[in-house]
Amino acid sequence: RRLAALGNKPSVWLEFTPLAAALRAINLGQGFPDWEPPEWVVAAATRAATDAAPETQQYARSRGHPRLLRAIADLYRRVRFPKQRLDPNKNVLVTNGASGALYLTLSCLVDEGDEVVVFEPTFDIYLGAIRLAGGIPRCVPFKWKGTPREGVTSLATPNELTSAADWSIDWDALCQVLGPRTRVLMINTPHNPLGKVLTRTELERLAEIIRPHPQVTVLSDEVYEHILFDGCEHISFGSLEGMFERSVSIFSAGKTFSVTGWKIGWIIGPESHIQRFHNAQQFIVFSVCTPMQAAVAECLEEAQRRHYFSELASFYQRRRDQLVDALFQSHLGPIVPQGGYFVVASFEHVPRFVNRFPEAMTEMEALAVPGLEIDDATRDRADYNFARWLSFECGITPIPLSAFYCADHANRADALVRFAFCKQEQVLEEASRRLHQLQ
Ligand code: PMP
Ligand code: GLN
Repeated sequence: RRLAALGNKPSVWLEFTPLAAALRAINLGQGFPDWEPPEWVVAAATRAATDAAPETQQYARSRGHPRLLRAIADLYRRVRFPKQRLDPNKNVLVTNGASGALYLTLSCLVDEGDEVVVFEPTFDIYLGAIRLAGGIPRCVPFKWKGTPREGVTSLATPNELTSAADWSIDWDALCQVLGPRTRVLMINTPHNPLGKVLTRTELERLAEIIRPHPQVTVLSDEVYEHILFDGCEHISFGSLEGMFERSVSIFSAGKTFSVTGWKIGWIIGPESHIQRFHNAQQFIVFSVCTPMQAAVAECLEEAQRRHYFSELASFYQRRRDQLVDALFQSHLGPIVPQGGYFVVASFEHVPRFVNRFPEAMTEMEALAVPGLEIDDATRDRADYNFARWLSFECGITPIPLSAFYCADHANRADALVRFAFCKQEQVLEEASRRLHQLQ
């Protein structure tokens, strides 16, 4: 029954990753860096892989490698949760990436029929993980100040530059869905796909709203915690007055150290929750890859000595500006992100595409790409067809934004796609040249 709730359909990645590869298009779809990780990060992995000691090569404790637990507690006590003691053996759990943490936390917090509130658009894994846990997603779309057409998100003029900050929480809709059956409220800051960074005011208002609902836990996905632009500040929901006990926060080494394949993530939260997640983890994966945990421990220690986290933000800001500029010049209205490594853009003013719209799906199928799977429900979706068309016409692959909405709200993404800018500057330059053809 839970599998049936997933809809038995291919995810968006099963279409656009093979499509980009087959066409040799620039893949600005799936978010993974295309550069080599920093040499000191690779060196940490090499040291861990070649250290023959059993504590590096054999099963780690289910809770996590002791050195990594200590490194996490030391760092987050200082930078995120200054009012908490953060005991490495009580408040931290290492997981199989942030994705593993999302599944683990949801399956422990949610019982059959419980409701989980998410803001839309939302990272596509959330809806699947909620359904696998037996939960019912209650989706609350963000409001956008520029929504002139009924339901559909639309830019007012072809060249309007808007910000992710213009997308705001629909407080009335949120209060309407919160009720006795709500178990979890999921937040994500900086946000994938929008790049919105929740402000202290927004987080405090969320805290006020959940205070009278003691059965609700906030699940705070903070994997892009260090990738922030224009002086934006990252605030953990759990650092607000009284909210550490009401929430759990999820982080990932993959984003921070440009090693998405390492799949090392961690959860920080109150002992009561962490204890339950730990109990469950023993019967799921038992423990997480030991040498990679040792490597991440070294990376977290070294990153602080090198002031790496602030460097990371300016490194990404250059790429964000490069892609936003290219999109803007090509009449693809970009929504400027405040954090993360994605930019959402509107294509409704790209005239060449509008004329070719009905043919996009047919042309794509004629390509007969091996391994590519199409979700039938997306055949007539404008954002999917734009992403298909841009891939073969322009050699650039984005991700259609309706992949980040539930079926009932998919039409809100009718004119939007997401581009990743975690790519080398010369790749973004080439993307910019290709986008120019759209003018
Ligand atoms: N949350 C968000 C918002 C993400 O974008 C990602 C990246 N896929 C994850 C969680 C999962 O992170 P990981 O690769 O560590 O599983
Ligand atoms: N977080 C990445 C993205 O949103 C990777 C997604 C995935 O591989 N499931 O593109």
